[in-house]
Amino acid sequence: MDKTEDRTICAKCGGYCCKKSGCDYFVSDFESMKIDYLESILDTGRVSIIASFIFDRLPNNKLISVPLLSLRARNINRGEIDLLSFKTTCASLEENGCHFSLEERPSGGSTLVPSSDGLCHSNVDRLKELEKWQPYQSVLRRIVKRRTGMTVDGKIREDVENLFYNVLNKNFDGVAKAELYDVLKNMIPMLMEVYPEEYKKARIRAHNNTPFVLKKTVFNNNNK
Ligand code: SF4
Ligand code: SF4
Repeated sequence: MDKTEDRTICAKCGGYCCKKSGCDYFVSDFESMKIDYLESILDTGRVSIIASFIFDRLPNNKLISVPLLSLRARNINRGEIDLLSFKTTCASLEENGCHFSLEERPSGGSTLVPSSDGLCHSNVDRLKELEKWQPYQSVLRRIVKRRTGMTVDGKIREDVENLFYNVLNKNFDGVAKAELYDVLKNMIPMLMEVYPEEYKKARIRAHNNTPFVLKKTVFNNNNK
């Protein structure tokens, strides 16, 4: 897999992509997928188990979401099990750039080709790389259970409720504008349909009886 780096371009940009979120690990980044090895990776404090959501509408019109677990560079103020939350700046972004050498860097970051016009692009099919995590769902699920005492479904429900709560309270600290837009515009409406009970619980917690409506003003005064 071709790894690329252009510190001059990235220094000028200031790390826009890393401020939006930590980058993805590919399966090929790890020498083993055994549970003890993966747990030692989490113990470095720089990696989280995360979930990507694949939404699907059944013939009876019911919307469902299927989580796909994988590993990502950990974000600031996020834990080792971070199935769903607003993404924040990567915790491994340091004053002089990435903490990791090009060789050690998660492939989601090291296969990104920097461009001075801001049109940085990946030189691999990221969706295909994500699908390669499919055979390792059971080991990642076991780690979630070991470390949280919860099933993946239970942890996702907790995270979804917290995400709704943060939206209702406008808790967007450290969230880049592009991430805020993605979540509010694309994710929240579908999550409201799939998880109505969690939405109800979040509204009770937030003492908020006003249904969520996406307003442009939500994006004001936020980070780039
Ligand atoms: S890869 Fe692109 S977006 Fe990321 S820091 Fe470099 S120039 Fe900026
Ligand atoms: S691990 Fe490095 S390249 Fe990846 S998001 Fe963090 S700082 Fe950026």
